[in-house]
Amino acid sequence: MSGAAATVRLGHLYPAEMNIYADRGNIAVLARRLAWRGMALEVTELGVGAPVDPAAHDLYYLGGGQDRDQAVVAEDLVATKAEGLRAAVADGAAALCVCGGFQLAGHGYTGTDGSRMPGIGILDLDTVAGPTRLIGNLAIEAELDGEVRSVVGFENHAGRTRLGSGCRPLGRVVHGHGNNGEDGGEGGVGGRVIGTYLHGPLLPKNPWIADTLLRWALAHRLGDAPVLEPIDDALEERAHAAAVARAAGGRRR
Ligand code: GLN
Repeated sequence: MSGAAATVRLGHLYPAEMNIYADRGNIAVLARRLAWRGMALEVTELGVGAPVDPAAHDLYYLGGGQDRDQAVVAEDLVATKAEGLRAAVADGAAALCVCGGFQLAGHGYTGTDGSRMPGIGILDLDTVAGPTRLIGNLAIEAELDGEVRSVVGFENHAGRTRLGSGCRPLGRVVHGHGNNGEDGGEGGVGGRVIGTYLHGPLLPKNPWIADTLLRWALAHRLGDAPVLEPIDDALEERAHAAAVARAAGGRRR
């Protein structure tokens, strides 16, 4: 692989507003895992007012935010980016939407003050804030591309998310609360879009998700899903195991 084909183009949505859970750590993991394989990540920041050209990116990232940050970006998302993002994912671009970003990837979010924020509808789900926050270490059994693996992180959200029929959960809660604390589901996947409440950040402890996103993004870029060279993930596996142990010490479903 050489030249332009070896570069994944990432559109980082609202890096200034939606960044409360070390979201830049996720971007660093994507960049590093490509660099280790002789490829590159080209990051374009898409802040308030910036339009989305659906052909310009292979992968999008939307991080977490407090309700007030979300309210600012929700209006802008719908006004300047929703159409481009919907066209991009329909064309096979990949996306990772975390926590507040997960909520806005759905049809909308009714926040703790009762106000309704519009979503962009790239995932078939809806979120309404509940009376308590769902906080703690979270471990799930996730499925992507037919493969099932343990995925871990931290959750902290008031929103209760319910999936529609066009979206399946990312995984099944093993320890923690997940989408709504009731149905045992965590996150949502539709096409090449992944939404999740897992952060902390997510990708350093779960490189399998990072590689899945990179494979999808490269498939968008190149037309075919490449086989990614394996990387020695011994350190990441230790971080993952430590996080699973912490989650297991908390609430068990
Ligand atoms: N504001 C949202 C909620 O509390 C999301 C929070 C977050 O991104 N951590 O549900």
